[in-house]
Amino acid sequence: MVNDMTTDTSAEVQQAEFRPNYRIKCQNCGQVPTVDVYVNGKLETRTELCGVCTWGEAACIDPEEW
Ligand SMILES: [Zn+2]
Repeated sequence: MVNDMTTDTSAEVQQAEFRPNYRIKCQNCGQVPTVDVYVNGKLETRTELCGVCTWGEAACIDPEEW
């Protein structure tokens, strides 16, 4: 038997996904879409912030950049 010193806890990697929400306006600047966060395919949280306000980058206005 091999006594492996490396810790293999096989931590589950959470599959986070960002999806655009066109029905909620950004709380900060009023733009749509805002960012919905899905983890493992389930809605985790609504940021109620647009991509720009979430990530602070102008390019993030486009959901394709998320
Ligand atoms: Zn915003």
